[in-house]
Amino acid sequence: MRGVFSHSGLRKGNGDIVVFTGLGDSPGIAGQKRIKEVHRELTNRPYALLLSHITIVKEPRRGGRVSESVVVEDVLAWCSRYGLPDTEEFLTDDGSDCLSLRKFQHHTILLYVIVRLWIALLENERRKIDAYLCFAINVGLSGRATSPDLTIAHYVWLGKVLETPDVDKVISAPTRDVWARHYVGDLINAHIGRTGVQLAVPASNTESGRFFVKVPSFFDLCYLQLAGMIAKPQDGSEIRKHLRTCAQCQRLFWGRKNALYCGRKGCSRKSAYNRKHASRNA
Ligand SMILES: [Zn+2]
Repeated sequence: MRGVFSHSGLRKGNGDIVVFTGLGDSPGIAGQKRIKEVHRELTNRPYALLLSHITIVKEPRRGGRVSESVVVEDVLAWCSRYGLPDTEEFLTDDGSDCLSLRKFQHHTILLYVIVRLWIALLENERRKIDAYLCFAINVGLSGRATSPDLTIAHYVWLGKVLETPDVDKVISAPTRDVWARHYVGDLINAHIGRTGVQLAVPASNTESGRFFVKVPSFFDLCYLQLAGMIAKPQDGSEIRKHLRTCAQCQRLFWGRKNALYCGRKGCSRKSAYNRKHASRNA
């Protein structure tokens, strides 16, 4: 966190739509407080950074656009609060940092879909495993710059097969599960391979040093948190207990066991009650 972000917006850059953030005035005491507060929000709970991304995602529809699931307003709200999760040198000018909107949306939806795929595997929900694996392949492989190798070609083929009605004749359900797990591993490892462990040497003989993780972008840190989530005990009890789907807006949220609503505006027991009542009286 370098300062207080006062605003964020969109502009065109290199044929792409770009998110930029501007720093506010020199951060005074109030500003310093705000930086601490925002920093705490993203670090105080397990998976907080990952969750801050995936909980803005609206459940994707088959054949829907990424921009319908990760809407511009939510991206700008995220960046206005936390700054940019990554920056791109070649898009940056006149002192304001920039990031391709598409890149933000791509990683956010991909993280979301992997989480959904993993939950489906834990719950052994056949239809959802196939649907999210298909999504994850389509999103994960779109916009790849590197030339396809054998594994990629296999995933492309698998993505196509999953869209056909007689998928069971081509590849059995247990084999699809195996490939779903492989795919999750491949995607995550590609990102956490970019993180590095560093040592902070103690500044004096009375202090202790520490290890920390250095990442090129916040997204890599999200993938690292996701890796931690998946590496948890294999009954997946933590994810199953706390990672809930809001009964109203269908977004993911981290809540207590049996919690039904995410707590966003209009997503509470009270507002659900009011809605039910209103429709009954109508
Ligand atoms: Zn909700």
